[in-house]
Amino acid sequence: MTLIDGKKIAADIRAELREKTLQFQKRYGRQVGLAVVLVGEDPASQVYVRNKIRACEEAGIRSFAHYLPADAPQRAVEELVCSLAADDEVHGILVQLPLPPHLDAERILACIPASKDVDGFSAQNIGRLALGEEGTVACTPLGVMELLRRSKIETRGRRAVVLGRSKIVGRPMALLLLNADATVTVCHSHTQGLAAICAQADILVAAIGKPRFVTADMVKGGAVVIDVGINRVDGKLVGDVDFEHVAPKTSFITPVPGGVGPMTIAMLLCNALACAERAMQ
Ligand code: NAP
Repeated sequence: MTLIDGKKIAADIRAELREKTLQFQKRYGRQVGLAVVLVGEDPASQVYVRNKIRACEEAGIRSFAHYLPADAPQRAVEELVCSLAADDEVHGILVQLPLPPHLDAERILACIPASKDVDGFSAQNIGRLALGEEGTVACTPLGVMELLRRSKIETRGRRAVVLGRSKIVGRPMALLLLNADATVTVCHSHTQGLAAICAQADILVAAIGKPRFVTADMVKGGAVVIDVGINRVDGKLVGDVDFEHVAPKTSFITPVPGGVGPMTIAMLLCNALACAERAMQ
C-alpha cells in the first residue's frame, strides 16, 4: 500500500506556481489577481478565506478581499461581484459559500463571468466539462485528478466508482474520470447494492460526508481509494473511508487529513493563473 501524500504534492504544486506567476508578471507587467468575497462572519468561512488569501500571497497572486456584513442586501452583493467582473486587475472571483440564507446564491454566482469563475461552478464551465472541452473545473475533483496523475495512476480503461453526486465534488469528479477514459459509475443515496458496486472499483472515490462509511468489504484488493470526505468525530478529522481497515487492501490510498484537502487550495491558485492566462491571450 502506498500513501498518497497530498500535503507534499500540494506544496510542490504551490512552489511550481510561484515560478509561473512570476513569469506571468514579467510577461504582462501585472500580477495574477484573485478577488475573494465573504459575506457575514461565519467562523469556518473566515478561516477558509484567510487561508486562501495567505496562499495567494505565498504564490505571488494579488488578492482582493471584500468583506460585507451578514445583513448585506442582495443588490449590494450583486453590485460588488459585477464591479469585480468588470475590473481588469481581477482575473478570478470567488464568493465564499455558504451565503447567509436571505441571499439568492444562484443569482450572485451568475454575476461571475465564466472567464473569472475560479471555482468552476458556472453552468458554462460545467457544460464544457461535460462536453470534454477546456474550461475551469471545480478545485476538489481537479485536485483528485492531479493526485492520480502525479502518483502515476492509470485511469484509462479502469473501472471507477464515485460515491456522491454533488455539484462541487461527485458530478465533476465523475466527468473528469470519464474524460480520462475510465469507465465510471456514480452512486448516491438511492443506489441499490452500493457495496457490491464499490467492490468492483479499480479506483474508488468517496465523497458523501459520512464518517468511515467505506469499509474493507466494499473495497477490491489492490484498488486505489481516494477519500474526499471531511468529518469531525470526537474532535478528530476522519474521512468517508475506514482507513485503518481499508488501507491494507489498497494499492494507493489518501489519508484524512493530508490527502485531498490540501489539494483544493492548490488547485484554486492554479485555476486563478489559468483564468489570468486566458484573459491575456
Ligand atoms: P453533499 O453535497 O452533502 O453531497 C453528498 C453526496 O453523497 C450526495 O450526492 C448524496 O446523495 C450522497 N450520499 C449521502 N449519503 C449517502 C449514502 N448513505 N449512500 C450513498 N450516497 C450518499 O457533500 P459534498 O459537498 O459533495 O461533500 C462530500 C464530502 O466531501 C464531505 O465530507 C465534505 O466535507 C467533503 N469535501 C471535502 C473537500 C476537500 O477539500 N477535501 C471539498 C469539498 C467537500 P444524494 O444526492 O442522493 O443526496
